Amino acid sequence: QKAEWAKLVNEKTVSADGRHVELAANIGTPKDLEGVKNNGGEAVGLYRTEFLYMGRDQLPTEDEQFDAYKAVLEGMEGKPVVVRTLDIGGDKELPYLDLPKEMNPFLGFRAIRLCLEEQDIFRTQLRALLRASKYGNLKIMFPMIATLDEFRQAKAILEEEKQALLNSGVEVAERIETGIMVEIPSTAVMADTFAKEVDFFSIGTNDLIQYTMAADRMNERVSYLYQPYNPAILRLVKMVIDAAHKEGKWAGMCGEMAGDETAIPLLLGLGLDEFSMSATSILRARSLIKRLSQPEMEQLANEVLTMRTAEEVVQAVQSAVTK
Ligand code: PEP
Ligand code: MG
Repeated sequence: QKAEWAKLVNEKTVSADGRHVELAANIGTPKDLEGVKNNGGEAVGLYRTEFLYMGRDQLPTEDEQFDAYKAVLEGMEGKPVVVRTLDIGGDKELPYLDLPKEMNPFLGFRAIRLCLEEQDIFRTQLRALLRASKYGNLKIMFPMIATLDEFRQAKAILEEEKQALLNSGVEVAERIETGIMVEIPSTAVMADTFAKEVDFFSIGTNDLIQYTMAADRMNERVSYLYQPYNPAILRLVKMVIDAAHKEGKWAGMCGEMAGDETAIPLLLGLGLDEFSMSATSILRARSLIKRLSQPEMEQLANEVLTMRTAEEVVQAVQSAVTK
Protein backbone atom coordinates (compact mmCIF):
# COMPACT_ATOMS: atom_id res chain seq x y z
CA GLN A 1 0.00 0.00 0.00
CA LYS A 2 2.86 2.36 0.84
CA ALA A 3 4.34 1.81 -2.62
CA GLU A 4 0.93 2.55 -4.12
CA TRP A 5 0.72 5.81 -2.15
CA ALA A 6 4.25 6.84 -3.12
CA LYS A 7 3.16 7.03 -6.77
CA LEU A 8 0.78 9.83 -5.81
CA VAL A 9 3.50 12.23 -4.60
CA ASN A 10 3.41 14.48 -7.65
CA GLU A 11 -0.28 14.16 -8.38
CA LYS A 12 -3.06 16.60 -7.69
CA THR A 13 -5.82 15.47 -5.36
CA VAL A 14 -8.89 14.72 -7.43
CA SER A 15 -11.98 12.75 -6.47
CA ALA A 16 -13.24 9.88 -8.65
CA ASP A 17 -15.59 12.29 -10.44
CA GLY A 18 -12.95 14.97 -10.96
CA ARG A 19 -13.34 17.48 -8.12
CA HIS A 20 -10.00 18.96 -7.06
CA VAL A 21 -9.31 19.62 -3.41
CA GLU A 22 -6.06 20.82 -1.91
CA LEU A 23 -4.13 18.62 0.51
CA ALA A 24 -1.92 20.81 2.65
CA ALA A 25 0.41 20.22 5.57
CA ASN A 26 0.55 21.49 9.12
CA ILE A 27 4.08 22.53 10.06
CA GLY A 28 5.81 23.95 13.12
CA THR A 29 9.24 24.91 11.75
CA PRO A 30 11.00 25.35 8.39
CA LYS A 31 12.61 21.95 9.00
CA ASP A 32 9.23 20.31 8.44
CA LEU A 33 9.26 21.31 4.77
CA GLU A 34 11.22 18.23 3.75
CA GLY A 35 8.36 16.06 4.98
CA VAL A 36 5.87 18.23 3.11
CA LYS A 37 7.78 17.72 -0.16
CA ASN A 38 8.35 14.00 0.35
CA ASN A 39 4.65 13.51 0.95
CA GLY A 40 3.39 15.63 -1.90
CA GLY A 41 1.87 18.50 0.07
CA GLU A 42 0.15 20.99 -2.24
CA ALA A 43 0.43 23.82 0.28
CA VAL A 44 1.15 24.64 3.89
CA GLY A 45 -2.29 25.00 5.43
CA LEU A 46 -1.10 25.83 8.93
CA TYR A 47 2.30 27.09 10.02
CA ARG A 48 2.10 27.16 13.81
CA THR A 49 4.48 30.02 14.53
CA GLU A 50 4.39 29.63 18.31
CA PHE A 51 7.31 27.19 18.14
CA LEU A 52 9.51 30.14 17.20
CA TYR A 53 8.65 31.64 20.57
CA MET A 54 8.89 28.50 22.70
CA GLY A 55 11.85 26.75 24.32
CA ARG A 56 13.86 29.96 24.79
CA ASP A 57 14.08 32.78 27.30
CA GLN A 58 13.10 35.82 25.27
CA LEU A 59 10.95 36.82 22.31
CA PRO A 60 12.34 36.06 18.85
CA THR A 61 13.51 39.21 17.03
CA GLU A 62 11.87 40.49 13.87
CA ASP A 63 14.85 39.32 11.84
CA GLU A 64 14.83 35.83 13.31
CA GLN A 65 11.17 35.56 12.40
CA PHE A 66 11.74 37.02 8.95
CA ASP A 67 14.36 34.34 8.26
CA ALA A 68 12.01 31.55 9.27
CA TYR A 69 9.04 32.87 7.26
CA LYS A 70 11.21 33.53 4.21
CA ALA A 71 12.64 30.01 4.41
CA VAL A 72 9.17 28.49 4.43
CA LEU A 73 7.83 30.71 1.62
CA GLU A 74 10.85 30.07 -0.58
CA GLY A 75 10.85 26.39 0.24
CA MET A 76 7.26 26.07 -0.96
CA GLU A 77 8.18 27.66 -4.30
CA GLY A 78 5.09 29.76 -4.80
CA LYS A 79 2.62 27.26 -3.37
CA PRO A 80 0.25 28.70 -0.75
CA VAL A 81 1.58 29.08 2.80
CA VAL A 82 -0.93 29.91 5.52
CA VAL A 83 0.95 31.39 8.46
CA ARG A 84 -0.95 31.59 11.70
CA THR A 85 -0.02 34.48 13.96
CA LEU A 86 1.04 33.74 17.51
CA ASP A 87 -1.34 31.34 19.27
CA ILE A 88 0.16 31.24 22.73
CA GLY A 89 -1.75 30.52 25.94
CA GLY A 90 -4.05 27.62 26.62
CA ASP A 91 -1.74 24.60 26.71
CA LYS A 92 1.22 26.59 25.32
CA GLU A 93 3.01 28.84 27.79
CA LEU A 94 5.81 31.37 27.39
CA PRO A 95 7.51 31.63 30.80
CA TYR A 96 9.38 34.84 29.87
CA LEU A 97 6.13 36.76 29.28
CA ASP A 98 5.34 36.32 32.96
CA LEU A 99 1.56 36.26 32.54
CA PRO A 100 -0.60 35.71 35.61
CA LYS A 101 -1.91 32.18 36.19
CA GLU A 102 -5.50 31.73 35.10
CA MET A 103 -8.29 29.47 36.34
CA ASN A 104 -9.24 28.43 32.80
CA PRO A 105 -6.29 28.96 30.46
CA PHE A 106 -8.19 27.59 27.45
CA LEU A 107 -10.86 30.23 28.04
CA GLY A 108 -8.44 32.95 28.95
CA PHE A 109 -5.95 35.46 27.70
CA ARG A 110 -4.50 33.67 24.69
CA ALA A 111 -3.80 33.93 20.97
CA ILE A 112 -5.36 36.97 19.28
CA ARG A 113 -6.59 38.24 22.65
CA LEU A 114 -3.02 38.54 23.84
CA CYS A 115 -1.79 39.91 20.52
CA LEU A 116 -4.33 42.74 20.44
CA GLU A 117 -3.29 43.71 23.96
CA GLU A 118 0.47 43.19 23.70
CA GLN A 119 0.71 44.96 20.39
CA ASP A 120 4.51 45.18 20.27
CA ILE A 121 4.69 41.41 20.04
CA PHE A 122 1.99 41.29 17.37
CA ARG A 123 3.37 44.15 15.27
CA THR A 124 6.85 42.67 15.28
CA GLN A 125 5.48 39.41 13.93
CA LEU A 126 3.37 41.14 11.30
CA ARG A 127 6.34 43.19 10.08
CA ALA A 128 8.42 40.05 9.76
CA LEU A 129 5.61 38.42 7.78
CA LEU A 130 5.07 41.43 5.52
CA ARG A 131 8.78 41.68 4.76
CA ALA A 132 8.87 37.97 3.92
CA SER A 133 5.72 38.14 1.79
CA LYS A 134 7.50 38.84 -1.48
CA TYR A 135 9.28 35.47 -1.33
CA GLY A 136 6.23 33.33 -1.99
CA ASN A 137 2.47 32.98 -1.68
CA LEU A 138 1.76 34.15 1.87
CA LYS A 139 -1.65 34.03 3.51
CA ILE A 140 -2.01 35.35 7.06
CA MET A 141 -4.39 33.72 9.52
CA PHE A 142 -5.51 34.96 12.93
CA PRO A 143 -6.20 32.36 15.66
CA MET A 144 -9.04 32.20 18.21
CA ILE A 145 -11.19 34.87 16.62
CA ALA A 146 -14.44 35.13 18.60
CA THR A 147 -15.90 38.38 17.28
CA LEU A 148 -15.88 40.38 14.09
CA ASP A 149 -14.36 43.27 15.99
CA GLU A 150 -11.26 41.21 16.83
CA PHE A 151 -10.77 40.39 13.17
CA ARG A 152 -11.21 44.02 12.16
CA GLN A 153 -8.70 45.18 14.77
CA ALA A 154 -6.13 42.59 13.72
CA LYS A 155 -6.60 43.45 10.06
CA ALA A 156 -6.29 47.19 10.77
CA ILE A 157 -3.01 46.66 12.60
CA LEU A 158 -1.75 44.57 9.70
CA GLU A 159 -2.70 47.38 7.28
CA GLU A 160 -0.95 49.96 9.45
CA GLU A 161 2.26 47.96 9.49
CA LYS A 162 2.02 47.39 5.75
CA GLN A 163 1.63 51.11 5.04
CA ALA A 164 4.52 51.94 7.36
CA LEU A 165 6.78 49.47 5.56
CA LEU A 166 5.74 50.71 2.13
CA ASN A 167 6.33 54.31 3.22
CA SER A 168 9.86 53.42 4.23
CA GLY A 169 10.49 51.80 0.86
CA VAL A 170 10.23 48.14 1.86
CA GLU A 171 8.75 45.82 -0.74
CA VAL A 172 5.62 43.94 0.29
CA ALA A 173 3.54 41.48 -1.76
CA GLU A 174 0.70 43.30 -3.46
CA ARG A 175 -1.98 40.93 -2.30
CA ILE A 176 -1.89 38.91 0.91
CA GLU A 177 -5.03 36.96 1.75
CA THR A 178 -6.10 37.36 5.37
CA GLY A 179 -8.28 34.79 7.03
CA ILE A 180 -9.25 33.37 10.37
CA MET A 181 -9.27 30.13 12.26
CA VAL A 182 -12.83 29.08 12.99
CA GLU A 183 -12.36 27.33 16.31
CA ILE A 184 -14.82 29.14 18.58
CA PRO A 185 -18.52 28.29 18.23
CA SER A 186 -19.63 31.94 18.11
CA THR A 187 -17.55 32.40 14.98
CA ALA A 188 -18.89 29.27 13.33
CA VAL A 189 -22.45 30.42 14.03
CA MET A 190 -21.68 33.88 12.63
CA ALA A 191 -19.69 32.56 9.67
CA ASP A 192 -22.04 34.21 7.16
CA THR A 193 -21.12 37.62 8.58
CA PHE A 194 -17.40 36.89 8.77
CA ALA A 195 -17.40 35.56 5.21
CA LYS A 196 -18.12 39.03 3.87
CA GLU A 197 -14.88 40.37 5.37
CA VAL A 198 -12.31 37.57 5.47
CA ASP A 199 -10.56 36.00 2.49
CA PHE A 200 -10.77 32.46 3.87
CA PHE A 201 -11.67 30.26 6.80
CA SER A 202 -9.68 27.42 8.28
CA ILE A 203 -11.68 25.31 10.70
CA GLY A 204 -9.70 24.40 13.80
CA THR A 205 -11.54 21.34 14.97
CA ASN A 206 -9.16 20.60 17.85
CA ASP A 207 -10.49 23.64 19.65
CA LEU A 208 -13.91 23.84 17.97
CA ILE A 209 -14.80 20.41 19.36
CA GLN A 210 -13.58 21.19 22.87
CA TYR A 211 -15.48 24.47 22.98
CA THR A 212 -18.67 23.13 21.42
CA MET A 213 -18.83 20.07 23.66
CA ALA A 214 -17.37 21.90 26.70
CA ALA A 215 -14.83 19.09 27.06
CA ASP A 216 -11.15 19.92 27.67
CA ARG A 217 -9.17 18.36 24.82
CA MET A 218 -6.40 17.32 27.27
CA ASN A 219 -8.62 15.76 29.95
CA GLU A 220 -8.91 11.97 29.67
CA ARG A 221 -11.88 11.78 31.98
CA VAL A 222 -14.08 13.75 29.60
CA SER A 223 -12.57 12.41 26.40
CA TYR A 224 -15.80 10.50 25.67
CA LEU A 225 -17.31 13.90 24.93
CA TYR A 226 -14.62 14.82 22.47
CA GLN A 227 -16.69 13.78 19.45
CA PRO A 228 -15.63 14.90 15.97
CA TYR A 229 -18.59 13.01 14.49
CA ASN A 230 -21.22 14.46 16.73
CA PRO A 231 -23.81 15.94 14.34
CA ALA A 232 -23.46 19.22 16.24
CA ILE A 233 -19.87 19.52 15.03
CA LEU A 234 -20.74 18.45 11.50
CA ARG A 235 -23.54 21.01 11.31
CA LEU A 236 -21.15 23.76 12.42
CA VAL A 237 -18.62 22.64 9.82
CA LYS A 238 -21.31 22.76 7.16
CA MET A 239 -22.37 26.26 8.20
CA VAL A 240 -18.82 27.50 7.86
CA ILE A 241 -18.20 25.93 4.45
CA ASP A 242 -21.56 27.09 3.04
CA ALA A 243 -21.02 30.63 4.36
CA ALA A 244 -17.61 30.83 2.71
CA HIS A 245 -18.88 29.56 -0.63
CA LYS A 246 -21.84 31.93 -0.62
CA GLU A 247 -19.34 34.82 -0.63
CA GLY A 248 -16.96 33.19 -3.10
CA LYS A 249 -14.35 32.45 -0.43
CA TRP A 250 -12.59 29.19 0.34
CA ALA A 251 -12.85 27.04 3.43
CA GLY A 252 -10.17 24.74 4.78
CA MET A 253 -9.68 22.70 7.88
CA CYS A 254 -6.45 22.42 9.87
CA GLY A 255 -7.55 20.48 12.95
CA GLU A 256 -6.74 16.78 13.32
CA MET A 257 -10.12 15.92 11.84
CA ALA A 258 -8.97 16.99 8.36
CA GLY A 259 -6.63 14.00 8.14
CA ASP A 260 -8.98 11.44 9.62
CA GLU A 261 -10.08 8.68 7.28
CA THR A 262 -13.63 8.60 8.59
CA ALA A 263 -13.97 12.37 8.39
CA ILE A 264 -12.52 12.86 4.91
CA PRO A 265 -15.50 11.39 2.99
CA LEU A 266 -17.87 13.66 4.93
CA LEU A 267 -15.69 16.73 4.51
CA LEU A 268 -15.44 16.09 0.78
CA GLY A 269 -19.22 15.78 0.73
CA LEU A 270 -19.65 19.02 2.65
CA GLY A 271 -17.54 20.81 0.04
CA LEU A 272 -14.34 21.50 2.00
CA ASP A 273 -11.76 23.08 -0.33
CA GLU A 274 -8.54 22.52 1.58
CA PHE A 275 -7.54 19.77 4.02
CA SER A 276 -4.49 20.52 6.15
CA MET A 277 -2.95 17.66 8.10
CA SER A 278 0.32 16.21 9.29
CA ALA A 279 2.45 15.60 6.21
CA THR A 280 2.60 11.86 6.82
CA SER A 281 -1.19 11.59 6.35
CA ILE A 282 -1.31 13.29 2.94
CA LEU A 283 -0.68 10.38 0.57
CA ARG A 284 -3.16 8.10 2.31
CA ALA A 285 -5.76 10.89 2.14
CA ARG A 286 -5.04 11.46 -1.56
CA SER A 287 -5.46 7.78 -2.30
CA LEU A 288 -8.76 7.72 -0.39
CA ILE A 289 -10.16 10.82 -2.13
CA LYS A 290 -9.31 9.41 -5.55
CA ARG A 291 -11.69 6.54 -4.80
CA LEU A 292 -14.56 8.74 -3.59
CA SER A 293 -17.31 10.36 -5.65
CA GLN A 294 -18.12 13.90 -4.54
CA PRO A 295 -21.87 13.73 -5.30
CA GLU A 296 -22.16 10.42 -3.42
CA MET A 297 -20.33 11.87 -0.43
CA GLU A 298 -22.55 14.93 -0.58
CA GLN A 299 -25.56 12.70 -0.25
CA LEU A 300 -23.93 10.80 2.61
CA ALA A 301 -23.09 14.09 4.37
CA ASN A 302 -26.68 15.28 4.04
CA GLU A 303 -27.89 12.04 5.58
CA VAL A 304 -25.55 12.14 8.57
CA LEU A 305 -26.46 15.75 9.35
CA THR A 306 -29.91 14.49 10.36
CA MET A 307 -28.58 11.66 12.53
CA ARG A 308 -28.81 11.70 16.30
CA THR A 309 -25.46 10.46 17.55
CA ALA A 310 -21.79 10.27 16.66
CA GLU A 311 -22.00 6.46 16.64
CA GLU A 312 -24.69 6.52 13.97
CA VAL A 313 -22.57 8.83 11.86
CA VAL A 314 -19.47 6.66 12.10
CA GLN A 315 -21.43 3.57 11.17
CA ALA A 316 -23.01 5.26 8.19
CA VAL A 317 -19.64 6.42 6.87
CA GLN A 318 -18.01 3.05 7.39
CA SER A 319 -20.72 1.14 5.59
CA ALA A 320 -20.84 3.65 2.73
CA VAL A 321 -17.11 3.83 2.16
CA THR A 322 -16.08 0.17 2.51
CA LYS A 323 -18.74 -1.24 0.20
C1 PEP B 1 -7.19 23.65 16.16
O1 PEP B 1 -7.60 24.19 17.19
O2 PEP B 1 -7.85 22.81 15.52
C2 PEP B 1 -5.86 23.97 15.62
C3 PEP B 1 -5.45 23.55 14.44
O3 PEP B 1 -5.05 24.73 16.41
P1 PEP B 1 -4.17 24.15 17.60
O4 PEP B 1 -4.28 22.63 17.56
O5 PEP B 1 -2.80 24.65 17.35
O6 PEP B 1 -4.86 24.76 18.76
MG1 MG C 1 -6.60 25.92 18.06
